[in-house]
Amino acid sequence: MLTAVLEDGTKISMADKWFENELKELRAKQQFLCPACDSKVTLKLGSKRQWHFAHYNHSMCRHSLEPESPYHLSGKLQLYHWLTNQNIPVSLEVYLPLIQQRPDLLCKVGNQLFALEFQCSSLSEERYQQRTKGYQQIGIIPIWVIGGNRLRRKQGDIFQILGFEWLTTRKDRMEQMHLTYYCPESSQWIFLKQIRSFSATRALAKIICRKKEIVSIEDILNPSIIPSFNPMSWLHLKKAWRYPPVHPHQSKEKRLYHKWLYQHKVIPSQFPAEAGWFLPTQHFIETSPHIWQTLILVTSILPLTPNQSISLSKIKLNLTPFLYNRILTFRSHPFNDNSELLLQLIEEYMCLLRTFGNLHKKGEQEFIVRKIITLPLTPNQANQLDNNLSKISQNTPNIHQIQR
Ligand SMILES: [Zn+2]
Repeated sequence: MLTAVLEDGTKISMADKWFENELKELRAKQQFLCPACDSKVTLKLGSKRQWHFAHYNHSMCRHSLEPESPYHLSGKLQLYHWLTNQNIPVSLEVYLPLIQQRPDLLCKVGNQLFALEFQCSSLSEERYQQRTKGYQQIGIIPIWVIGGNRLRRKQGDIFQILGFEWLTTRKDRMEQMHLTYYCPESSQWIFLKQIRSFSATRALAKIICRKKEIVSIEDILNPSIIPSFNPMSWLHLKKAWRYPPVHPHQSKEKRLYHKWLYQHKVIPSQFPAEAGWFLPTQHFIETSPHIWQTLILVTSILPLTPNQSISLSKIKLNLTPFLYNRILTFRSHPFNDNSELLLQLIEEYMCLLRTFGNLHKKGEQEFIVRKIITLPLTPNQANQLDNNLSKISQNTPNIHQIQR
Protein backbone atom coordinates (compact mmCIF):
# COMPACT_ATOMS: atom_id res chain seq x y z
CA MET A 1 0.00 0.00 0.00
CA LEU A 2 1.03 3.57 -0.58
CA THR A 3 -0.28 5.19 2.59
CA ALA A 4 0.19 4.79 6.34
CA VAL A 5 -0.37 6.90 9.47
CA LEU A 6 1.99 7.91 12.26
CA GLU A 7 1.06 7.33 15.89
CA ASP A 8 -0.22 10.93 16.14
CA GLY A 9 -2.54 10.30 13.17
CA THR A 10 -0.50 12.15 10.54
CA LYS A 11 -1.05 10.58 7.15
CA ILE A 12 2.04 9.65 5.12
CA SER A 13 1.49 9.10 1.41
CA MET A 14 3.93 7.90 -1.20
CA ALA A 15 2.02 10.06 -3.69
CA ASP A 16 3.72 13.09 -2.08
CA LYS A 17 7.24 14.16 -2.98
CA TRP A 18 9.75 12.62 -0.58
CA PHE A 19 13.52 12.28 -0.57
CA GLU A 20 14.87 8.89 0.40
CA ASN A 21 16.89 10.27 3.34
CA GLU A 22 13.80 12.04 4.70
CA LEU A 23 11.87 8.80 4.73
CA LYS A 24 14.79 6.87 6.23
CA GLU A 25 14.96 9.39 9.03
CA LEU A 26 11.23 9.17 9.61
CA ARG A 27 11.41 5.39 9.60
CA ALA A 28 14.16 5.46 12.26
CA LYS A 29 12.19 7.74 14.59
CA GLN A 30 8.55 6.90 14.07
CA GLN A 31 6.23 3.95 13.88
CA PHE A 32 4.07 3.57 10.77
CA LEU A 33 0.57 2.12 11.25
CA CYS A 34 -2.01 0.66 8.88
CA PRO A 35 -4.87 3.21 8.57
CA ALA A 36 -7.42 0.39 8.51
CA CYS A 37 -6.35 -1.99 11.30
CA ASP A 38 -3.87 0.15 13.32
CA SER A 39 -1.26 -2.60 13.29
CA LYS A 40 2.39 -1.79 12.62
CA VAL A 41 3.54 -1.70 9.03
CA THR A 42 7.00 -1.42 7.54
CA LEU A 43 8.18 1.05 4.91
CA LYS A 44 9.98 -0.58 1.97
CA LEU A 45 12.45 1.74 0.26
CA GLY A 46 13.87 -0.54 -2.42
CA SER A 47 15.40 0.66 -5.65
CA LYS A 48 13.46 -1.64 -7.98
CA ARG A 49 9.90 -1.32 -6.73
CA GLN A 50 7.73 1.65 -6.01
CA TRP A 51 8.29 2.62 -2.33
CA HIS A 52 5.43 1.20 -0.30
CA PHE A 53 4.21 0.09 3.12
CA ALA A 54 3.65 -3.55 3.99
CA HIS A 55 2.11 -5.43 6.90
CA TYR A 56 4.40 -7.80 8.79
CA ASN A 57 4.03 -11.45 7.86
CA HIS A 58 1.95 -12.38 10.88
CA SER A 59 -0.57 -9.60 10.18
CA MET A 60 -4.26 -10.49 10.33
CA CYS A 61 -5.40 -7.28 8.60
CA ARG A 62 -8.76 -7.96 6.94
CA HIS A 63 -8.60 -4.77 4.91
CA SER A 64 -5.15 -5.37 3.59
CA LEU A 65 -4.58 -4.49 -0.06
CA GLU A 66 -1.74 -6.95 -0.23
CA PRO A 67 -0.11 -8.61 -1.97
CA GLU A 68 0.23 -5.80 -4.44
CA SER A 69 2.39 -6.22 -7.49
CA PRO A 70 4.77 -3.42 -8.57
CA TYR A 71 2.52 -3.12 -11.63
CA HIS A 72 -0.49 -2.45 -9.42
CA LEU A 73 1.34 0.01 -7.14
CA SER A 74 2.71 2.09 -9.97
CA GLY A 75 -0.63 2.09 -11.84
CA LYS A 76 -2.48 3.23 -8.74
CA LEU A 77 -0.03 6.08 -8.23
CA GLN A 78 -0.21 7.12 -11.89
CA LEU A 79 -4.00 7.18 -11.75
CA TYR A 80 -3.85 9.27 -8.57
CA HIS A 81 -1.72 11.89 -10.33
CA TRP A 82 -3.84 11.64 -13.46
CA LEU A 83 -6.87 12.67 -11.36
CA THR A 84 -5.13 15.42 -9.36
CA ASN A 85 -3.82 16.90 -12.64
CA GLN A 86 -7.45 17.37 -13.62
CA ASN A 87 -8.13 19.15 -10.30
CA ILE A 88 -10.34 16.32 -9.13
CA PRO A 89 -10.47 15.80 -5.34
CA VAL A 90 -9.07 12.32 -4.77
CA SER A 91 -7.97 10.18 -1.80
CA LEU A 92 -5.53 7.34 -2.04
CA GLU A 93 -6.46 4.08 -0.24
CA VAL A 94 -8.88 5.81 2.09
CA TYR A 95 -10.47 3.41 4.61
CA LEU A 96 -14.28 3.51 4.74
CA PRO A 97 -15.13 2.11 8.20
CA LEU A 98 -18.89 1.88 7.53
CA ILE A 99 -18.41 -0.77 4.85
CA GLN A 100 -14.89 -1.79 5.92
CA GLN A 101 -13.57 -1.27 2.43
CA ARG A 102 -10.62 0.51 1.05
CA PRO A 103 -10.83 1.58 -2.60
CA ASP A 104 -7.57 2.20 -4.44
CA LEU A 105 -8.82 5.72 -5.21
CA LEU A 106 -11.86 7.63 -4.06
CA CYS A 107 -12.69 10.71 -6.09
CA LYS A 108 -15.46 13.26 -6.34
CA VAL A 109 -16.78 14.42 -9.69
CA GLY A 110 -19.54 17.01 -9.40
CA ASN A 111 -21.45 15.86 -6.34
CA GLN A 112 -20.88 12.17 -6.90
CA LEU A 113 -18.28 9.98 -5.21
CA PHE A 114 -16.60 7.30 -7.31
CA ALA A 115 -14.47 4.43 -6.05
CA LEU A 116 -11.85 3.59 -8.63
CA GLU A 117 -10.60 0.03 -8.32
CA PHE A 118 -7.51 -0.85 -10.31
CA GLN A 119 -7.73 -4.64 -10.55
CA CYS A 120 -4.60 -6.38 -11.86
CA SER A 121 -5.03 -9.80 -10.26
CA SER A 122 -7.97 -12.12 -10.60
CA LEU A 123 -10.90 -11.64 -8.27
CA SER A 124 -13.67 -14.10 -7.38
CA GLU A 125 -17.16 -13.22 -8.48
CA GLU A 126 -18.27 -13.28 -4.82
CA ARG A 127 -15.61 -10.73 -3.83
CA TYR A 128 -16.53 -8.57 -6.77
CA GLN A 129 -20.20 -8.66 -5.78
CA GLN A 130 -19.45 -7.98 -2.12
CA ARG A 131 -17.25 -4.96 -2.89
CA THR A 132 -19.62 -3.55 -5.49
CA LYS A 133 -22.62 -3.86 -3.14
CA GLY A 134 -20.64 -2.25 -0.30
CA TYR A 135 -20.00 0.88 -2.36
CA GLN A 136 -23.58 1.02 -3.62
CA GLN A 137 -24.91 0.83 -0.04
CA ILE A 138 -23.30 4.16 0.81
CA GLY A 139 -23.99 5.85 -2.51
CA ILE A 140 -20.56 5.46 -4.07
CA ILE A 141 -20.37 4.37 -7.70
CA PRO A 142 -17.60 1.83 -8.28
CA ILE A 143 -15.55 2.08 -11.46
CA TRP A 144 -13.49 -1.00 -12.18
CA VAL A 145 -10.34 -0.46 -14.20
CA ILE A 146 -8.63 -3.67 -15.26
CA GLY A 147 -4.84 -3.88 -15.34
CA GLY A 148 -3.49 -3.75 -18.90
CA ASN A 149 -1.52 -6.88 -17.96
CA ARG A 150 -4.81 -8.81 -18.18
CA LEU A 151 -5.64 -7.80 -21.75
CA ARG A 152 -5.45 -10.83 -24.05
CA ARG A 153 -5.78 -10.41 -27.78
CA LYS A 154 -6.31 -13.77 -29.48
CA GLN A 155 -6.26 -12.72 -33.11
CA GLY A 156 -7.58 -9.73 -35.04
CA ASP A 157 -10.65 -8.44 -33.24
CA ILE A 158 -10.99 -11.47 -30.95
CA PHE A 159 -10.23 -10.99 -27.23
CA GLN A 160 -10.24 -13.27 -24.23
CA ILE A 161 -12.37 -12.04 -21.31
CA LEU A 162 -12.36 -14.07 -18.10
CA GLY A 163 -14.43 -14.43 -14.89
CA PHE A 164 -14.90 -11.17 -13.01
CA GLU A 165 -13.83 -9.11 -16.05
CA TRP A 166 -17.23 -9.81 -17.62
CA LEU A 167 -18.88 -8.33 -14.52
CA THR A 168 -16.98 -5.05 -14.90
CA THR A 169 -18.36 -4.33 -18.39
CA ARG A 170 -20.34 -1.11 -18.61
CA LYS A 171 -22.81 0.29 -21.14
CA ASP A 172 -22.11 3.40 -23.18
CA ARG A 173 -24.77 5.87 -24.32
CA MET A 174 -25.59 3.60 -27.28
CA GLU A 175 -26.15 0.67 -24.89
CA GLN A 176 -22.98 -1.02 -26.17
CA MET A 177 -20.79 -2.88 -23.71
CA HIS A 178 -17.21 -1.84 -23.06
CA LEU A 179 -14.27 -2.61 -20.77
CA THR A 180 -11.70 -0.17 -19.41
CA TYR A 181 -8.02 -1.05 -18.90
CA TYR A 182 -5.02 0.96 -17.75
CA CYS A 183 -1.39 0.04 -18.39
CA PRO A 184 1.19 1.84 -16.18
CA GLU A 185 4.07 0.54 -18.33
CA SER A 186 2.88 2.38 -21.44
CA SER A 187 0.91 5.05 -19.49
CA GLN A 188 -2.08 4.27 -21.66
CA TRP A 189 -5.78 3.82 -21.24
CA ILE A 190 -7.06 0.92 -23.31
CA PHE A 191 -10.72 0.46 -24.16
CA LEU A 192 -12.44 -2.61 -25.55
CA LYS A 193 -15.55 -1.21 -27.18
CA GLN A 194 -18.64 -2.72 -28.72
CA ILE A 195 -17.95 -6.02 -27.01
CA ARG A 196 -19.81 -8.84 -28.72
CA SER A 197 -19.59 -11.98 -26.64
CA PHE A 198 -19.74 -15.22 -28.59
CA SER A 199 -18.54 -17.85 -26.12
CA ALA A 200 -17.84 -18.29 -22.41
CA THR A 201 -14.45 -16.57 -22.67
CA ARG A 202 -14.30 -14.89 -26.08
CA ALA A 203 -15.68 -11.75 -27.67
CA LEU A 204 -15.26 -9.59 -30.71
CA ALA A 205 -14.39 -6.01 -29.80
CA LYS A 206 -12.78 -2.83 -31.05
CA ILE A 207 -9.61 -1.88 -29.23
CA ILE A 208 -8.68 1.76 -28.65
CA CYS A 209 -5.46 2.89 -26.93
CA ARG A 210 -4.98 6.45 -25.67
CA LYS A 211 -2.08 8.11 -23.86
CA LYS A 212 -3.27 9.04 -20.39
CA GLU A 213 -2.69 12.77 -20.98
CA ILE A 214 -5.41 12.97 -23.62
CA VAL A 215 -8.00 11.05 -21.62
CA SER A 216 -10.15 12.82 -19.02
CA ILE A 217 -12.31 11.44 -16.22
CA GLU A 218 -15.34 12.31 -18.38
CA ASP A 219 -14.06 9.91 -21.05
CA ILE A 220 -14.09 7.16 -18.44
CA LEU A 221 -17.47 7.98 -16.88
CA ASN A 222 -19.30 8.76 -20.15
CA PRO A 223 -17.31 7.19 -22.94
CA SER A 224 -17.78 8.55 -26.43
CA ILE A 225 -19.16 6.53 -29.29
CA ILE A 226 -16.80 5.16 -31.90
CA PRO A 227 -17.28 4.29 -35.57
CA SER A 228 -19.47 1.29 -36.05
CA PHE A 229 -18.55 -2.32 -36.05
CA ASN A 230 -16.93 -4.10 -38.99
CA PRO A 231 -19.53 -6.68 -40.13
CA MET A 232 -16.85 -8.74 -41.90
CA SER A 233 -15.44 -9.80 -38.52
CA TRP A 234 -18.75 -11.43 -37.67
CA LEU A 235 -18.93 -13.23 -41.02
CA HIS A 236 -15.44 -14.62 -40.39
CA LEU A 237 -16.70 -15.96 -37.07
CA LYS A 238 -19.67 -17.62 -38.74
CA LYS A 239 -17.34 -19.32 -41.19
CA ALA A 240 -15.21 -20.54 -38.28
CA TRP A 241 -18.31 -21.98 -36.60
CA ARG A 242 -19.28 -23.85 -39.75
CA TYR A 243 -15.79 -25.27 -40.26
CA PRO A 244 -14.10 -25.46 -36.85
CA PRO A 245 -10.63 -27.00 -36.53
CA VAL A 246 -10.88 -30.69 -35.65
CA HIS A 247 -10.71 -31.02 -31.89
CA PRO A 248 -9.80 -34.44 -30.45
CA HIS A 249 -11.37 -33.72 -27.05
CA GLN A 250 -14.82 -32.31 -27.50
CA SER A 251 -16.73 -31.38 -24.38
CA LYS A 252 -19.60 -33.61 -23.29
CA GLU A 253 -22.03 -30.79 -24.10
CA LYS A 254 -20.64 -30.36 -27.61
CA ARG A 255 -20.96 -34.09 -28.31
CA LEU A 256 -24.49 -34.07 -26.97
CA TYR A 257 -25.37 -31.09 -29.14
CA HIS A 258 -23.94 -32.68 -32.30
CA LYS A 259 -25.81 -35.91 -31.61
CA TRP A 260 -29.01 -33.92 -31.17
CA LEU A 261 -28.38 -32.09 -34.49
CA TYR A 262 -27.94 -35.37 -36.39
CA GLN A 263 -31.12 -36.73 -34.79
CA HIS A 264 -32.89 -33.72 -36.31
CA LYS A 265 -31.15 -34.22 -39.67
CA VAL A 266 -29.01 -31.11 -39.37
CA ILE A 267 -25.36 -31.36 -40.44
CA PRO A 268 -23.38 -29.23 -37.90
CA SER A 269 -21.62 -27.20 -40.62
CA GLN A 270 -24.95 -26.55 -42.35
CA PHE A 271 -26.91 -24.99 -39.52
CA PRO A 272 -29.47 -22.43 -40.81
CA ALA A 273 -28.03 -19.12 -42.02
CA GLU A 274 -30.63 -17.42 -39.77
CA ALA A 275 -28.71 -18.74 -36.71
CA GLY A 276 -25.49 -17.24 -35.36
CA TRP A 277 -26.17 -13.50 -35.15
CA PHE A 278 -25.23 -11.01 -32.48
CA LEU A 279 -27.89 -9.76 -30.06
CA PRO A 280 -27.40 -7.48 -27.03
CA THR A 281 -28.59 -10.03 -24.44
CA GLN A 282 -25.94 -12.45 -25.72
CA HIS A 283 -23.68 -10.64 -23.25
CA PHE A 284 -25.21 -12.71 -20.45
CA ILE A 285 -25.00 -16.07 -22.23
CA GLU A 286 -21.93 -18.27 -22.47
CA THR A 287 -23.24 -20.44 -25.30
CA SER A 288 -22.26 -19.37 -28.82
CA PRO A 289 -25.10 -17.67 -30.70
CA HIS A 290 -25.02 -20.16 -33.61
CA ILE A 291 -25.79 -22.93 -31.10
CA TRP A 292 -28.65 -21.43 -29.09
CA GLN A 293 -30.22 -19.83 -32.15
CA THR A 294 -30.10 -23.19 -33.95
CA LEU A 295 -31.79 -24.75 -30.89
CA ILE A 296 -34.65 -22.25 -31.19
CA LEU A 297 -35.00 -22.72 -34.93
CA VAL A 298 -35.00 -26.51 -34.83
CA THR A 299 -37.26 -26.90 -31.78
CA SER A 300 -39.70 -24.09 -32.44
CA ILE A 301 -39.59 -22.49 -35.90
CA LEU A 302 -38.64 -25.13 -38.50
CA PRO A 303 -41.61 -27.41 -37.59
CA LEU A 304 -44.09 -24.61 -38.37
CA THR A 305 -45.80 -24.06 -41.72
CA PRO A 306 -46.62 -20.56 -43.09
CA ASN A 307 -49.26 -18.70 -41.05
CA GLN A 308 -48.78 -20.93 -38.01
CA SER A 309 -47.92 -19.02 -34.85
CA ILE A 310 -45.85 -19.57 -31.73
CA SER A 311 -45.60 -17.73 -28.40
CA LEU A 312 -42.45 -16.59 -26.62
CA SER A 313 -43.31 -18.72 -23.58
CA LYS A 314 -43.69 -21.85 -25.75
CA ILE A 315 -40.23 -21.28 -27.24
CA LYS A 316 -38.85 -20.81 -23.73
CA LEU A 317 -40.42 -24.10 -22.67
CA ASN A 318 -38.84 -25.85 -25.69
CA LEU A 319 -35.41 -24.57 -24.58
CA THR A 320 -35.71 -25.75 -20.98
CA PRO A 321 -34.16 -29.23 -21.52
CA PHE A 322 -31.02 -27.59 -22.93
CA LEU A 323 -30.60 -25.61 -19.72
CA TYR A 324 -30.59 -28.86 -17.74
CA ASN A 325 -28.02 -30.61 -19.93
CA ARG A 326 -25.94 -27.40 -20.04
CA ILE A 327 -25.90 -27.02 -23.82
CA LEU A 328 -27.33 -23.57 -23.03
CA THR A 329 -25.54 -21.80 -20.15
CA PHE A 330 -25.71 -18.34 -18.64
CA ARG A 331 -22.69 -16.33 -17.62
CA SER A 332 -22.86 -16.22 -13.83
CA HIS A 333 -23.83 -12.75 -12.78
CA PRO A 334 -24.97 -11.90 -9.26
CA PHE A 335 -27.54 -9.32 -10.33
CA ASN A 336 -29.40 -11.23 -13.04
CA ASP A 337 -32.68 -13.08 -13.27
CA ASN A 338 -31.96 -15.84 -15.80
CA SER A 339 -35.59 -16.63 -16.51
CA GLU A 340 -36.24 -13.00 -17.50
CA LEU A 341 -33.04 -12.92 -19.52
CA LEU A 342 -34.03 -16.01 -21.48
CA LEU A 343 -37.37 -14.43 -22.44
CA GLN A 344 -35.63 -11.23 -23.48
CA LEU A 345 -33.13 -13.19 -25.54
CA ILE A 346 -35.93 -15.06 -27.33
CA GLU A 347 -37.82 -11.83 -28.00
CA GLU A 348 -34.72 -10.14 -29.43
CA TYR A 349 -34.15 -13.12 -31.67
CA MET A 350 -37.76 -13.23 -32.88
CA CYS A 351 -37.48 -9.53 -33.77
CA LEU A 352 -34.33 -10.29 -35.73
CA LEU A 353 -36.15 -13.04 -37.66
CA ARG A 354 -38.86 -10.51 -38.38
CA THR A 355 -36.24 -8.18 -39.85
CA PHE A 356 -34.99 -11.08 -41.97
CA GLY A 357 -38.56 -11.44 -43.26
CA ASN A 358 -39.27 -14.85 -41.71
CA LEU A 359 -41.78 -13.81 -39.07
CA HIS A 360 -44.66 -11.42 -38.45
CA LYS A 361 -45.60 -10.15 -35.05
CA LYS A 362 -49.04 -11.03 -33.72
CA GLY A 363 -50.00 -9.36 -30.43
CA GLU A 364 -47.58 -8.89 -27.56
CA GLN A 365 -46.13 -12.35 -27.17
CA GLU A 366 -46.73 -14.18 -30.47
CA PHE A 367 -45.11 -14.49 -33.86
CA ILE A 368 -46.48 -15.93 -37.14
CA VAL A 369 -44.40 -17.63 -39.82
CA ARG A 370 -44.29 -15.63 -43.01
CA LYS A 371 -41.41 -17.26 -44.90
CA ILE A 372 -40.15 -20.69 -43.91
CA ILE A 373 -36.51 -21.21 -43.00
CA THR A 374 -34.63 -23.88 -44.93
CA LEU A 375 -31.39 -25.67 -44.14
CA PRO A 376 -28.49 -24.91 -46.53
CA LEU A 377 -27.85 -27.91 -48.80
CA THR A 378 -24.15 -27.27 -49.43
CA PRO A 379 -21.34 -25.38 -47.68
CA ASN A 380 -21.28 -22.86 -50.54
CA GLN A 381 -24.97 -22.21 -50.21
CA ALA A 382 -24.53 -21.68 -46.46
CA ASN A 383 -21.85 -19.03 -47.04
CA GLN A 384 -23.98 -17.33 -49.68
CA LEU A 385 -27.00 -17.17 -47.34
CA ASP A 386 -24.81 -15.83 -44.49
CA ASN A 387 -23.60 -13.03 -46.80
CA ASN A 388 -27.14 -12.12 -47.84
CA LEU A 389 -28.39 -11.90 -44.26
CA SER A 390 -25.34 -9.91 -43.21
CA LYS A 391 -26.27 -7.31 -45.85
CA ILE A 392 -29.84 -7.11 -44.51
CA SER A 393 -28.60 -6.59 -40.96
CA GLN A 394 -26.13 -3.89 -42.09
CA ASN A 395 -28.87 -2.04 -43.95
CA THR A 396 -31.24 -2.09 -40.98
CA PRO A 397 -30.60 0.70 -38.49
CA ASN A 398 -31.64 -0.09 -34.89
CA ILE A 399 -31.64 -3.79 -35.76
CA HIS A 400 -30.98 -4.66 -32.13
CA GLN A 401 -33.88 -2.75 -30.71
CA ILE A 402 -36.95 -4.74 -29.82
CA GLN A 403 -39.79 -3.17 -31.83
CA ARG A 404 -43.10 -3.48 -30.10
ZN1 LIG B 1 -4.04 -3.33 8.19
